[in-house]
Amino acid sequence: MATSKSINPATGETIKEYTRISTNEALEKIAASKKEFHQWKQKTFEERAKLMYALADVLDSNKEEYAQLATREMGKVIGQARKEIEKCAWVCRYYAEHAATLLADEDVKTEATKSYVTFQPSGVVLAVMPWNFPFYQAIRFAAPSLMAGNTGVLKHASNVQGCALAIEEAFLKAGFPKGVFTNLNVDSKDVKKLIEDKNIAAITLTGSDAAGRSIAAIAGQNLKKTVMELGGSDAYIILDDVDLEKATDLATLGRLQNNGQTCIAAKRFIVHDAIYDDFLALFTTKMKAAKMGEPTNEDSYYGPMARLDLRDELHEQVQKTIQQGGRLVLGGTIPEGKGAYYPASILVDLKPGMEAFDNELFGPVASVIRAKDDAHAVELANNSQFGLGSGVFTKDIQRGEKLALQLEAGSSFVNKLVVSDPRLPFGGIKNSGYGRELAAYGIREFVNTKTIWID
Ligand code: NAP
Repeated sequence: MATSKSINPATGETIKEYTRISTNEALEKIAASKKEFHQWKQKTFEERAKLMYALADVLDSNKEEYAQLATREMGKVIGQARKEIEKCAWVCRYYAEHAATLLADEDVKTEATKSYVTFQPSGVVLAVMPWNFPFYQAIRFAAPSLMAGNTGVLKHASNVQGCALAIEEAFLKAGFPKGVFTNLNVDSKDVKKLIEDKNIAAITLTGSDAAGRSIAAIAGQNLKKTVMELGGSDAYIILDDVDLEKATDLATLGRLQNNGQTCIAAKRFIVHDAIYDDFLALFTTKMKAAKMGEPTNEDSYYGPMARLDLRDELHEQVQKTIQQGGRLVLGGTIPEGKGAYYPASILVDLKPGMEAFDNELFGPVASVIRAKDDAHAVELANNSQFGLGSGVFTKDIQRGEKLALQLEAGSSFVNKLVVSDPRLPFGGIKNSGYGRELAAYGIREFVNTKTIWID
């Protein structure tokens, strides 16, 4: 019988093996979800909101248990795991409170007696999700989709099946009818059959661009709507007037939080020539001082990567960059002992065409790149296949905003690390994907935007 394994990346120990369900079993669950959709879509926003608030309460009251589970399965440090659960509860409450307004009918003045736009749910939404924020990614899709009247089925990453089951259970504990949110422990090769199934209305993927290309192609063949939240190689421009202490503190946090495995992590630091040497020296000191350790220890700044294969892949990317002429000024050596640890590392002397410049390094490795002036910094930042997040650090707000507007990305933040916030749209351009999650834009992705005309 096929299984998926949860392995503690800090120790290498198998936590549990989960039996996968067959494609047919998955299709049966999807059919049940479709059946439930016909009931669920009839509910009022108030009725759905009551359950969504209850879900937020379940998340709050089980915060420690869920946080420990996420830390065990994918290695994030425990304090950040607790924050992830808190954020899930926030997103649930946000959509419970605002869904009715965000999806309110819009009157349009025409020559009709009455004409308006109404937003009706699409049906069953299939979500294919990654392990890096095992609770948040699932809730970020589910809270708006379900509040809009859709039902959801989750194909979570194979290494976080414990989290996937805990999320499904949380929905049931909150009182959601069975079938409104369903976990499907299937192999990724079965996803094609699920997309092709007539009961799936739309698909949302958060993951790598490789998975995105595959899923979007199948969905395209079946004319099904998709939202793609893919990888990134976010550029942060550090201008010559910054407070270096503050900028290097944020740079260290930006590159190491979630053990370096955040889609919107600061990955390429593009630093103004005038302060390049000082920035690099201080940043290197702080990255070196950041404590790598057991993720359940409250004082670990960062923990292991989520899986050994991902750690080894990252190391190969670092090695390839060095062969291409890049230079390592910190880290780059796999530590001895158990676990998928990789040390905080910094690469310099990078140019377009090198691995670390062109591709996503999904782990605690920073790329520091020298820019001649503002225009050169923007040119380097935009010289990327990706366009997810981006940032500018400067004391001059107007200069920062001017550059932020020129950056090719779904979000550009000035003097703050990019975050996802339910009040603002989140997503990317270029190979970082398309479509948006969160805010009004996210809840309107999986609805039929329908015109009504009464003559
Ligand atoms: P991944 O390998 O693409 O996996 C993501 C999900 O897709 C998992 O559930 C995986 O299942 C499934 N999957 C992979 N290949 C598939 C295929 N060909 N067909 C169907 N399903 C497939 O990505 P990851 O390594 O878990 O996550 C890291 C990537 O996600 C990074 O690139 C990161 O930047 C990106 N990410 C983006 C966002 C965003 O909001 N834009 C947020 C977080 C992460 P299995 O686990 O069973 O392989």
